[in-house]
Amino acid sequence: MMLRTAPMIFLLALVACGAEQRQPSVLLISIDMLRADHLSCYGYERNTTPTIDGLAAEGVRFARHISSAPWTLPAHAAMFSSLPDSVHGCVDGTDNALPDGIVTLAERFQTAGYGTGGFFAGPYLHPAFGLGQGFDEYRFCVPDLAASMDGQSVGEWAGDPAAHRRSHHGVTNPGVVDAASAWLQEHGQEPFFLFVHLWDAHFDFVPPKPFDARFGDPDYEGFVDGREFFFDQRINRTMAEKDLHQLVALYDGEIMWCDAHVKRLLELLDDLELADDTIVAVTSDHGTEFFDHGGKGHRRTLYGEAIEIPLVIRAPGQLPAGVVVDDLSRMVDLGPTLMELSGLPPSNRFVGISLAPLATGEGSAPRAALSELLADQNRMRSVISGSGKLVWNEVSGDVVWFDLDRDPEERNPQRDLSQGLGPELLRALQAEIRTIQLVSEQHQYPHQPIVLPPALDQAIRASGYGGGEK
Ligand SMILES: [Zn+2]
Repeated sequence: MMLRTAPMIFLLALVACGAEQRQPSVLLISIDMLRADHLSCYGYERNTTPTIDGLAAEGVRFARHISSAPWTLPAHAAMFSSLPDSVHGCVDGTDNALPDGIVTLAERFQTAGYGTGGFFAGPYLHPAFGLGQGFDEYRFCVPDLAASMDGQSVGEWAGDPAAHRRSHHGVTNPGVVDAASAWLQEHGQEPFFLFVHLWDAHFDFVPPKPFDARFGDPDYEGFVDGREFFFDQRINRTMAEKDLHQLVALYDGEIMWCDAHVKRLLELLDDLELADDTIVAVTSDHGTEFFDHGGKGHRRTLYGEAIEIPLVIRAPGQLPAGVVVDDLSRMVDLGPTLMELSGLPPSNRFVGISLAPLATGEGSAPRAALSELLADQNRMRSVISGSGKLVWNEVSGDVVWFDLDRDPEERNPQRDLSQGLGPELLRALQAEIRTIQLVSEQHQYPHQPIVLPPALDQAIRASGYGGGEK
C-alpha cells in the first residue's frame, strides 16, 4: 500500500516544462550509520531531522528502504554500482576492490557530461576500494586519517583494529561540507553529480555543542561520554537503562548535527539558485544495533535496525511533494532512480529499477529486497518480500523467517519453511540467487557463487519454485 498525491499533474507539468529546464543536477548525501527509525520523519519521537523532514515534505520519502548490507563498504559499493553484493564482490574489506569493469553511477554521469565530485570522511569510502571510479574529484576530507592510510594496502589497513579505532574519533562533518561547498561553488553552473558522505553519526558519538546536550538528561553523571562505543566493555547489554538512554541520546545528537550539515548544503543550493534544477537525495548505508537483539554495532546481523535505512528524494517539477511510498525499495534502486530523474538512459548493467514511477503512482515495487553479510566469519543473507523476511545463516545452517506484520521487531523466528510465509520467502530467495547468477554471467562479473545446502535446496523445490515463477 502507498500514498499518492496527484501524480498525473506532476507528469504533465514535467512534459510542459521539460524543454525550458536545464539538465538536472544531482546532490546525493549519504549519512553513515543512520537507522531509519531514528529520523523524525520516519516516526521517531525525537525531532532529530528537521531539515530532512522538510526535504521529505517537498519530495518523496521511501518508508521501507533496505540496504544491501549492514556495513559501509558493500553498501556503498551497491549504492554506486546498483549491483547486489554477491555480484560487485566488494564485501569483506580485504584487498578486493570494486572491479574496474563495473560501471558506476558516477561514471554514468561523467560519461553524460556531468561534472562529478565526491567528498567523504569514512575510511571504507577510500578510492583503494574502487569507489572513486567516475569522479573528477574524489577526496578524503579527514587529512590525518587519509595520511595514516597512505603506504598501506587496503587489506593491511582494514585488518588493524587500532586504525579502525582512530577512524571513529573526530568531528568530520564541517570538513566534508566545506570541501563539497567549495566544489559546488566552482562547478555548480554546469550539470553536476555531487556525492557527500557524512560520517559523524557513525560511532563514536561526540556531537559538538549544543547537539551533545540536545536529547540527553542534563543531570546525567554516569560513565557514558559517547567515546569508544565499540571498544568499551562497559557498553554492553546489561548496562543500566540511564546509561543506554544517554548513549542513544548522543547518537541522536549526532544525527541532528548531520541534519544541520544537510541544511548547509541545501542553503548553498538556494544561494547559488540551483535548488530548482537539482535533485537532492538523502540516504544512508546501514543502521546499527543498540542491543535491540542483544548486540551492539553492525556488521554482525541482518535485523531491521541494521539494514532499514532512510531515502528521501526531492526532484522539483518531477516528483510530487509530500508523498510517502510504503512499498519496498532497495539500495540498488537508487542509481536507476537518479539516472531516470536526470534524463539519462537506463543501464542494462544495473540490477535495480527506477523508483520514480512508484512515487508518481505508475510503477511496481521490487518484489523482494536481498541483503547480504559476507564479511569476517559471517555468511548471511536475508530476503524481504511482502510482509515476510527470511534469514539464512550459511555458517550455522539456520534458516528462519519472520512475519513482519505480526512481529515487526523480529522477536519470534519461525523455522517451519513449509508453513505461513515460508514458501513465498523461499521462492523470493531463489529468485534473488537466480538474478545474481544471470547478471554475473551476462556481464562476466567475477561473482561469488551461492551454493545452497541440500536441505534448503529441497525446501525451495518443495515451495514450488519453477512453477511459473520468474
Ligand atoms: Zn557505514
